[in-house]
Amino acid sequence: MANNGEQNQTEAGRHQEVGHKSLLQSDALYQYILETSVYPREHEAMKELREITAKHPWNIMTTSADEGQFLNMLLKLINAKNTMEIGVYTGYSLLATALAIPEDGKILAMDVNKENYELGLPVIKKAGVDHKIDFREGPALPVLDELVKDEKNHGSYDFIFVDADKDNYLNYHKRLIELVKVGGVIGYDNTLWNGSVVAPPDAPLRKYVRYYRDFVLELNKALAVDPRIEITMLPVGDGITICRRIK
Ligand code: SAM
Ligand code: CA
Repeated sequence: MANNGEQNQTEAGRHQEVGHKSLLQSDALYQYILETSVYPREHEAMKELREITAKHPWNIMTTSADEGQFLNMLLKLINAKNTMEIGVYTGYSLLATALAIPEDGKILAMDVNKENYELGLPVIKKAGVDHKIDFREGPALPVLDELVKDEKNHGSYDFIFVDADKDNYLNYHKRLIELVKVGGVIGYDNTLWNGSVVAPPDAPLRKYVRYYRDFVLELNKALAVDPRIEITMLPVGDGITICRRIK
């Protein structure tokens, strides 16, 4: 997609959509996806939450609208009911999940920051899906350790979305592989990490991109050889690796 006349666009002009993080080299193509497939069908609550989030100073963290649509579709395809999310921010992917699962579906949602979740909560309530959410404020790892201690939680999750501290993804994976059911799915987000996974060592990367890159590279290597899962790495958003537990 690199040779389609988009190359003359300046870097500053690229990817104006808030939280889009698309790896597509053509802005026009990304805009086409949004305008043709995503925005016309976006749930009104998702739109409202996206617009509220756009005004927040950390809006770069939000899940993009096309990824939200993808998650919503995936959850429906696998009939997910019992789910988990690590890394909520204002709740765009959380709302995509809550809207996709059935009335008696559940989401265990974790974030160290409750304030941002509360920014999106009125919209989630208005959409009538807040009863599905069990929000826990604090680091996710101790919560997972507690869950793993109780055998009845083993193999009990249909879907888990991981979108938080990248330096902990492998620690999460060790626990989540026990908690997700065989045939269930774990989605690890940002696995192409701004495209930096293929950047040369001397590339001028933003400090946080450089810091987390090695953890993302290590995760990608580990997932690729893990015999307990099948994987597919998709260039949606900032890259998402879908893992299906097979044993
Ligand atoms: N999924 C969210 C969405 O759709 O907008 C975006 C999540 S944002 C990229 C990452 C989030 O992870 C932040 O809200 C941050 O507070 C949270 N976080 C960071 N470290 C964490 C930890 N150890 N446990 C739980 N959440 C954490
Ligand atoms: Ca993300």
